[in-house]
Amino acid sequence: MFLTALSTPVSADRNVPPVTPVPLPSENVPHPAPHLQPPPPNVQGLTGGIGINTIVTDPVIDMKVLVIRSPGHADGVYATIQAALDILGTPYGVIDISAGSQPSGTIQASDLWDGVNHGYYYAIFVTTSNVWAWLHANDKAAIEAYERDFDVRHVTWYTYPNPTDYGLNSVGSPTFPLDTFLTTGGQEVFSYLRTDITLTMSFDVWGYLAQPATGADVTSLLEDDIGNTVLAIFRPGDGREHMVFTMSSFYPVIPPSNIHARVLPYGMINWATRGVFLGERHAYFVPQPDDILAWGDRWDAVNHVYIMDTGYRLAPHDLDNVVTWMNTLRTSVPNAAGFMMEMPFNGDGSEQDREDDGTGPVISGTLTAKAMDLEAEFTWLNHTYTHLDFDHPPANYNECRYEIDQNNQTAAFLGFTDYTTATLLTGAYSGLTNTHLISAAYDLGVRYLLANESDLRYKNPSPNTGIPHPLNPEILQVPRYANNIFYAATTPAEETDLYNHIYSTSYTYTTILDITTNQSLGFLLDFSVDPTMFHMNNINDYGGGQTLLGDFTESLYGKYNALYNTDVPIISLRTQDIGQKMWDRMAYNNSDVSGIIACGNQITLNTTNAAAIPLTGISYGGNVENYAGQNISYIPMGSSDTVSIPGAAPKTPAQITGLSATRDGDDRVLSWDATTQDTGGAPLTALTYRVYGIENGNPYFEPAAGNLLAETTGLAFTHTNAINAAWAYAVTAIGDNCWKRESEPARHDYPNVVTLASFTASPAEGAVILEWKTATETDNLGFNLYRAESSTGPRTQLNESLLPSQSPGSMLGAPYGFRDETVTEGVTYYYWLEDVDLYGESTSHGPLGIKFAPGSSVIAFSSSQTWPTSERNLLSIVGLLVSLAAATWVWRKRG
Ligand SMILES: [Zn+2]
Repeated sequence: MFLTALSTPVSADRNVPPVTPVPLPSENVPHPAPHLQPPPPNVQGLTGGIGINTIVTDPVIDMKVLVIRSPGHADGVYATIQAALDILGTPYGVIDISAGSQPSGTIQASDLWDGVNHGYYYAIFVTTSNVWAWLHANDKAAIEAYERDFDVRHVTWYTYPNPTDYGLNSVGSPTFPLDTFLTTGGQEVFSYLRTDITLTMSFDVWGYLAQPATGADVTSLLEDDIGNTVLAIFRPGDGREHMVFTMSSFYPVIPPSNIHARVLPYGMINWATRGVFLGERHAYFVPQPDDILAWGDRWDAVNHVYIMDTGYRLAPHDLDNVVTWMNTLRTSVPNAAGFMMEMPFNGDGSEQDREDDGTGPVISGTLTAKAMDLEAEFTWLNHTYTHLDFDHPPANYNECRYEIDQNNQTAAFLGFTDYTTATLLTGAYSGLTNTHLISAAYDLGVRYLLANESDLRYKNPSPNTGIPHPLNPEILQVPRYANNIFYAATTPAEETDLYNHIYSTSYTYTTILDITTNQSLGFLLDFSVDPTMFHMNNINDYGGGQTLLGDFTESLYGKYNALYNTDVPIISLRTQDIGQKMWDRMAYNNSDVSGIIACGNQITLNTTNAAAIPLTGISYGGNVENYAGQNISYIPMGSSDTVSIPGAAPKTPAQITGLSATRDGDDRVLSWDATTQDTGGAPLTALTYRVYGIENGNPYFEPAAGNLLAETTGLAFTHTNAINAAWAYAVTAIGDNCWKRESEPARHDYPNVVTLASFTASPAEGAVILEWKTATETDNLGFNLYRAESSTGPRTQLNESLLPSQSPGSMLGAPYGFRDETVTEGVTYYYWLEDVDLYGESTSHGPLGIKFAPGSSVIAFSSSQTWPTSERNLLSIVGLLVSLAAATWVWRKRG
C-alpha cells in the first residue's frame, strides 16, 4: 500500500462516464524503514599504498556516479538516489553488496581507477552505513584512497552516526514529525531552497539525531530546533569529504511524506559532483483546461448527478477573469512569472456564437468574441472540432481528418496566433489506437499527441520522455497528468460533493485541494515536464474572481515556494515544446554519452548516437541557459562524436630552484627551495616534491615511476649510501591544486667527486705516458694510479704518495700526466686511475690496456685503451686529449 504513490485520478473529460476510482489513501501509511544497527567495531582507517605512496598527478575522471547498495536493505533510499539521478539524466553505475561481511576484493582499486591517473567515478554514493560497514577493510581502504587521491566526494545517504567514519555521535532517535532547518552551511549546499525552510521529516521516516564528535571536522547542514544534526559534511583530515545523512528516505510517496527525498537529492548530487554534471533539471507546470468554447457536463451538487452535455459553458467574463488572475499570479507569486495556460478548444462550440447558423461573423459579446479579443493571452491547442469519440464507433480517415482540419480552420478564422497544427488532443483521448486517426493526424502535420498519463500504457517510459506512436513513430505521444479537480466541477461545492461522492469521504474543499495539489507537487518536485489536465469548468469564476484551477495553482505554487527559493522559476511550456524536450531527452538517453572531466572543468564528451547533451554547471557553445543561478549548456553532438570543452588554464608549478647537495657520511643530502609560484609567476604552493634518480645513467633521464626515489612534502631528501656511485637526480614539484601537475624537473648530476674528461695511455721512448683530464674536481683530494698485467690481475700502485689535486673544488678541472718508466718491452699493461675525495672515498676509472712494443713507437692498444667509454663523457673527450708537453703536472715512475 505504501508504495502506491498515486491513485488513478478520474479522467476529467466531458464524455467520460464517471468511474469507480481507486480510493486515495487518507494519509500516507507509515512504512517500515530499515532500522540501522551500529556498524561493527570500527573497520580501520586508511591503509598504506603499495610502494611509494604517490600523489595522482593530472587526474581525469569519468563523469559518472558510483552507487553502492545492498538490495533488500534500505531500498527506499536506493529508490530515492536512483530517481534523482534518472530525473537529472546523470550517468551512474551500481555495485550491489550483499548483507554481511564482504570478502576482500569485492571492490578493488582497479574497479575505481586505472592505476595511472584516470578515475572511473567522480562521486560515490552509498545507500546506508551498513553497506559501508560490510565492505572488507581492504575494499573500504581502496575506496577511501581513491576518494582522497582523486578528490572524489562521498555521500552516505542513510547513516547510523559513528565518530570514525562520519565524525558524528548518535544522540538518539528523534520524535517524529521532526522539523529541521538549514544551517549556514546547508544554505550554501542547498542554495535553491529557501534559507528559512522548515523541512519536516514525517512519521514514516526513521533516523537518528547526531552531534559532531569531539575534534571532528564537521559542517552541519540540517539541524533540529535544538541543534542536533541530521545531515553533515565530515572531513576525516586526509582531504576526503563525506556527506552523511542520518534520516531514511522513501520514493515515491505523495508529498509531504518524505518531502526531503524530493528536495534534498539535487543539492546532494550537485555537491558531490561539484556542480558540474551531465543532465539538467527545471521545474515545470502548465495547466490545460479542455473543451474551451464548447458546452459540457456539470455536477449537480444537490442531487449528486451529472447534468450531461448542457451542464456548463464558460461565460465571456470567465476568460477576462482568468487573464486578470494570470497577470496577478505572475507578478505577485514567486517563481510564477513564466506562468502560461494552454487552451484546448473545440471549434464547433464557436458556431453558436456566429451569425447565419454558425457560418457568419462572430457575434459580439459572445464567448467566441471574447476568445478572439484575448487570444494573445493564451496558447491554443487543437482539441478536435466536435470532440468526436474516434473509437465508438471507430472513425474513418475522412472523419478523423475533418475533426482535426476543421479545428485548424477555426483557429485560423478566429485569428489564434499562438497556435500550431503540430499538436493534437483528442476528445477523451480517443483514437490513439485508431490507424485512421494516426494517418490523418500525420497527414495534417500532427507530431505531438497528448495521452493520459494515468493510463498505464501512457506513462512516461522514463523521466521526461514520451512514447513514439507504434503506428507512426514520427508522432510522439506526450503523457499528460490527470488530477482530482473534476472535469464537471465549477465551484468548490461541486468539487467537494463530487469528490466525496466518488471516494466516499467527507473532506472539505480545503482538504481536497491539499490532497490534490500534493500529488501534483510530487510531479513538480520531480521536475516532470508533462502538462496537467483540467477542464473549462475549472476556470469558472465561482465568486470574487476565484476558480478551481486558480485555487489549485495557487496552492501548488504556495507549497513549492515554501520549499524553493524565489530564483527557481516554474516554467510553462507549450505542448510542442514539451514534445521537443521529450525528443531531446530521448536522444540524450540514447546517446550513450560519456564525459571525462579534468581540473578546471576541462571536459571531453563522447557519444555513440547524436543528441544535444545537457551539461549543468558549464557555459560552452551557442546554447547556454541560466536556470536557478546555474548555467546549463546544450552541446550538439553527432553520432560517434567527440567534443572537447576547454577549462581553465592549468596551473603548473615552476621548476624548483636552489637544488643543491651535500655529503653526510655515505649519504647524499639534496635540498631545494620551496616552490611558491607557477610557471606564469602566480602564487602556487607545492603539495609535494618528487625526487627521481638514476645510477650511472644519462643525467637527462626521463623522470618516471621506475626511478622515483621519494615523494616528500619537505624541502630535503637524504639519499642513503649513494656516495659510491654516480647518480643523476631530477626533482619536481606538484601543485597544490586540483590539476596536481608536476613541474619540469630541476636536475643535479653527481657523476662522482671527479668528472673525468679523458684518461689515455700512449707510448714514449722507454715509457708509457698516462694522461688524464678532469672536468670537475668537486671535493677531490687527489689521484692514485694502479697497474696490473691483466685486467683482473693484482694491481700495483705506481705513485708513492697521493698525486694531489691541482684544482681542488674546481668546476673546471685540470690536465694531468704520469710517465711510467717501469715498463718492459712486449708486455701488456693495464692501468687504473683512482680519484680520492676529501671524505676518503675513492672511485676507480679504467682499466686502459696497452702493449709496450720494443724499441719503437708501434703500440698495440687493447680495446679499452681510452677511458671513459660511457656515453656521458664522450662529448667531453673530443678535443681534450692533452699532450704530455702541455701537461702542467707530470709525475714519473722509474724502475
Ligand atoms: Zn475534452
